[in-house]
Order: sequence, then C-alpha cells, then structure tokens
Amino acid sequence: MSVVIAIDQDLCTGCQECTKICPNLAIEGLPRQPQKINDTKCVMCGQCVQKCKSYVSVAEHGFGAYAKVRKARGLPATVTEPLFAAYNVCHLDEVLRALEDPKVETWVQSAPAVRVGIAEDFGAPLGTLAAGKLAAGLRRLGFNKVFDVNYAADVTIMEEGSELIDRLKNNGTLPMFTSCCPAWVRYLELNYPELRHHLSTTKSPQQIQGALVKTYGAKTQKTDPKKIFSVSIMPCTCKQYESGRPEMVDSGQRDVDVVLTTRELGYLLKLKGVDFLSLPEEKFDLPMGDYTGAAEIFGVTGGVMEAALRTGYELVTGQPIPAVDIKAVRGPNGFRTADIQVGELTLKVGVVTGLKNVKPVLEDLKAGKLSLHFLEVMSCPQGCVTGGGQPKLIVEKDFEMAYKARTEATYVHDRELPVRKSHENPSVKKLYDSFLKKPLGEESHKLLHTTYCGDPKSHH
Ligand code: SF4
Ligand code: SF4
Repeated sequence: MSVVIAIDQDLCTGCQECTKICPNLAIEGLPRQPQKINDTKCVMCGQCVQKCKSYVSVAEHGFGAYAKVRKARGLPATVTEPLFAAYNVCHLDEVLRALEDPKVETWVQSAPAVRVGIAEDFGAPLGTLAAGKLAAGLRRLGFNKVFDVNYAADVTIMEEGSELIDRLKNNGTLPMFTSCCPAWVRYLELNYPELRHHLSTTKSPQQIQGALVKTYGAKTQKTDPKKIFSVSIMPCTCKQYESGRPEMVDSGQRDVDVVLTTRELGYLLKLKGVDFLSLPEEKFDLPMGDYTGAAEIFGVTGGVMEAALRTGYELVTGQPIPAVDIKAVRGPNGFRTADIQVGELTLKVGVVTGLKNVKPVLEDLKAGKLSLHFLEVMSCPQGCVTGGGQPKLIVEKDFEMAYKARTEATYVHDRELPVRKSHENPSVKKLYDSFLKKPLGEESHKLLHTTYCGDPKSHH
C-alpha cells in the first residue's frame, strides 16, 4: 500500500494536536517529539493535515528549506502557500505529464464539495459556490472532457436505493451502511470486519464514474479506453487510496488513474496562470456531467441519505415525495436518527458524521440496543465539504464558519438546480435505457458493485 498521509519529521514539533483529532489512534509518538503515522491503522481521512499548524519557516528552518520541502513533495515552484508537517502525498506530476502528452485523452471528474471550496484558495469568501467556474477552469487546464462525479452520484442513488429496497423485501442484511466514504469503509474493515456485509455493495460515486468513463463513456465518445487517463478532483485525501484498491479495475484497467485534492487543483490552476475568479460560468460536458440537486448534497452530512430517500420514496410508493427537502436528516450533530414514512413502512434511518462518533453506534447496533434500516456514515466533521483535501484553514475560528458556509452553499445549489431527484436525471435515464438496462442488473453488478475485505492489511 503506498503512503497517502505522512508527517515530516523535521517539521513536526510534537504538539499532538493531530493525535487528538485522529479517529483511529494512528498517530504515535512522545509529547514534544516528532510524531509518526502507523499506516496499518491510518484511515487516510486527512483531518491531521487540516489540523497541523507547524510549517516551514525561514526563521526556524533556514533559507532554502521551503524550496527543498516543496520539491520533495512534488509541488510546482509556483506554490507559495505554507507547507505543514502533516501532509498528503501529491500526484500532480502524473496529471501534468498526461496533460502534456497529445496521445493521451485526459478526462476529469470533480466531486460536489470541490465547487464550494476551490474559490477559497483564490481569496473568495468561505463557501463560495463556483460550479460554473470550476467547469471553465478544468477546461482551461486542457482536459479533453470535463465531466462531473455528481452524474455518478445520481447513478449511485439508483443502485443503492434499489439495493436498500431489495434488502428490505428479501430479508437482506440490515441496517444497510452507506459505502461512499472510503475512510469509513477502511475503518469498518479494520475494526469491525464482522459487520462488513452491512456495507452497501454499491461503489462510491468516484469509482462508479471511473468504471463508466472507460466503458460507457469511451463507447459514447468513440474513444479507445486505453487512451483515457481518468483524473478525479476530490475534497478527500482517502480517495487516492480508494482508486488504487486492487478491485477497482472493473472497466478492464484501473478505473480512476489519479486523484487530486481541491488544494492540489488550486496549485494546478495557479501553475497554469488561470485567473479562477475571473472565469465565465460554463457547463460540464454531457452526458457524464449532467447532475441533479440530490447528487450535489452528497457533499454534506445527511446528503446521501436525503438523496436516497427522495428516490426511494418515489420508487416504492409511485407517488411524488411530499417535501423534497428532508430536514429531519440534516444538521451538524454527530449522530442523529429519524423515522421516515415510506408508504406503509416506517423507515428508521441514522446519520453519523465524524468518524469518532461511529463506535458507540456500531456497539449499540451489535448489542441490539439500536434498530435501524439504513445508516449513513461520513468520516469528516460535517461530511465531504469539511474533507481533508479541502482548502487549508489556518485560523481556528474559521473552521466552524467554513463548515457552515460550504454546507449552506451546497443546499443553495441543490435548490437552484432544475432537477432535484436522481431518478429524474435525463442523462442517467439514458444510461439505463441504452447501456445498464436496469439498476442491480447484470451490467451494474459487473461495473458498479463491489465486495469488502475482512482483512485490509493482507489485502494490499
Ligand atoms: S489521516 Fe486520519 S486516520 Fe490517518 S493519521 Fe491522519 S487523522 Fe489519523
Ligand atoms: S504533525 Fe503537526 S499537529 Fe501533529 S504533532 Fe506534529 S506539528 Fe503537531
């Protein structure tokens, strides 16, 4: 397994702020001594990267130290932002090589939370919504196709919603757990392997998009899949690990070639001289850039649950859902539950945000003290908008403000989109009509579903 998160031994002061936030006790060391990450325990959530405040400075580390660290981390010479002791390994060089190679088709997809984060790196207020500028910026970088992982989030709902209904009807394993957060999946595999059958077999939107890009996408765009270099822009440091899991090759090759974080997209835009805030509003490319409000809210805690309920309700009852905004599953609390009436069934749902909050919930489920049909878990404090790969916040008071502003911007985008339910996405309907045929069908099982490992340590 390649290293995703690391601590620079020369920069770490041993303040142990990261130790306090780590959800899986993966940071080891004595106080005031450089800390080390135990890779067999790290779930790669990147929250230590967000928290660390010890950076390279001329006063402490001498002239030339900044350039040396920047080079060692594979960052371009245009990067001038502070470089901290805790960091994620960057793959920008691979993307630059692909963009410069005329024989390579570079196709990019970005996650919902990126569009409420990226503008902050260019000095815009916290939580500025920049969906159109994001599409334009990716195009200016020279990507041949500018698709959107939100399209695949709508497909995820078609599959995961159908899977939940199937489990409810056929005595399947319940509660079903969401599986789109790879740090949560790894946490469960490491700590509760006996519960892994609760995880939805539906892949995450990133991996669904990856598998579709090199099959359906290649077919519709008349492109040789072997020529496609698929790049994913994520608010998350764990998505690089997810894309490298050995099972994520259902298209016949690696489904997602490389992942950049929102921060690294900022570096790339600056390297190429793209004046992000002056860009016009543009659209993502069709068909794999078409998305609904339900897909957009995957970026916030409770969003996957709400998106699944919007579709599940209508698939089960055949009636329009009375209120598209399902406020009962929203909010900042680390664990919340709701009873949702779906036809004759009272669906018991739970939402966990922040991986530190999940242990008591899993223990209660195991002890039979808690009864649920469906549980959403997101590792980061308020879902992906607060991910380890989002723009770095330096001042402590900015954390809560940024979380709130990015969450609100996500809901604004949802409300403004013309289609707000995944099953009504016209491009997703076309995908099922012309390629997948039906949710949970043969092609879906081959490309869009996966299984989980009882021992991820032996797995890599
Ligand atoms: S990435 Fe997350 S799990 Fe890994 S050391 Fe940092 S805080 Fe802990
Ligand atoms: S990695 Fe950063 S937050 Fe963690 S102990 Fe070192 S200096 Fe402190």
